[in-house]
Amino acid sequence: MQLPIYMDCHSTTPVDARVLGAMLPYFNADFGNAASRTHSFGWAAEAAVDRAREQVAALLGATAREIVFTSGATESNALALRGAAAVLRARGDHLVTTAIEHKAVLDTCRQLAREGFRLTIVPVGADGIVDAAAIGKAIEPGTILVSVMAANNEIGTLQPLAAIGALCRARGVLFHTDAAQAVGKIPLAVEALGIDLLSCSAHKLYGPKGVGALYLRRRVRIDPQTQGGGQERGLRSGTLNVPGIVGLGSACAIAAAEMPVEAPRLQALRDRLWSGIRAALPDVIVNGSMRDRLPHNLNVSFAGVQGESLLMMMNDVAVSPGAACDSANAEPSHVARAIGVPDDLARSSLRFGLGRFTTEAEVDYAIRKVVQSVERLRRESPLYASPSSGSGEDT
Ligand SMILES: *Cc1c(COP(=O)(O)O)cnc(C)c1O
Repeated sequence: MQLPIYMDCHSTTPVDARVLGAMLPYFNADFGNAASRTHSFGWAAEAAVDRAREQVAALLGATAREIVFTSGATESNALALRGAAAVLRARGDHLVTTAIEHKAVLDTCRQLAREGFRLTIVPVGADGIVDAAAIGKAIEPGTILVSVMAANNEIGTLQPLAAIGALCRARGVLFHTDAAQAVGKIPLAVEALGIDLLSCSAHKLYGPKGVGALYLRRRVRIDPQTQGGGQERGLRSGTLNVPGIVGLGSACAIAAAEMPVEAPRLQALRDRLWSGIRAALPDVIVNGSMRDRLPHNLNVSFAGVQGESLLMMMNDVAVSPGAACDSANAEPSHVARAIGVPDDLARSSLRFGLGRFTTEAEVDYAIRKVVQSVERLRRESPLYASPSSGSGEDT
């Protein structure tokens, strides 16, 4: 086992060696511009992009014509939300989203609200799941679009996409989902789920950074947000990132092939991590539903410890604060607030994101490391007296 151990796969994942191998020829051998129609360099690049488009579509249960390549989920979200809002402005001015969306969705919606749209942010339950009926209630005659993420990036909770998709379809409202954390990790079929627009990102599924896709259901119209060469059927101008797109396609094909074995393997490792921690430490609280959750996510609060001190002691296990905006910011995240985690518990939480290269030995090391660190910080803390230790009141 090599240190440090990487357990932060919701932030990003390493490029799979097979993905890298697929990409390499497109940097310098087949380096053509996919829009060059007059020579074989361009044709080779275009063929590679076409193949990747098929691979992305296959993973989502879509058709190749419904895939638009972008620079990542942030851009896909912006293109979906702003593009749909612009087209539908004459029909309505109301958008619906949830309180636990990634900032790329929440802040785009808030910006649209500053530009004159009305916005309803639907709260979620303490389990980190939005009630489909609450989305239904938020939809009004002027509603044009609902955006609900597939899986949350902090607490891993899975949202009831099929129920929301059915509601949206019945009410004639577009349904967008930010699926950056879910694509390649859990089965997602856009038709069955009633999804009109879906955002994903290669670097969350063992592909390269800086490339992603937007699934755009046939006959759904959006306005392009950039003008230029007219690539991607005019929806996203700009020279295609051919190696990146090849990487995304390859990552999707591998994820599709391996998901049936990989998802249960990761869930078993995650459950091992959680039982190991829970068996050794009192006063640990899991954030978000343990049932409707990504198989590789664990987000836990350790009562009585400072998250920053804990992260510092976990120096050779790379994890993220579970509910702080970022490592440098002790403010509880909007997700922690939305599910009602008290600020002190939010500040004491860690997010574990296991991945394709996580081993059982690494999980066991992480358990030992977190248990030792929490025990030591609690011993040193004048504020921590375990309720379950029976030692009486806090002083
Ligand atoms: C990572 C992430 C994004 C941003 O994706 P980029 O490709 O890095 O722009 C958006 N939404 C969610 C849920 C994410 O996890």
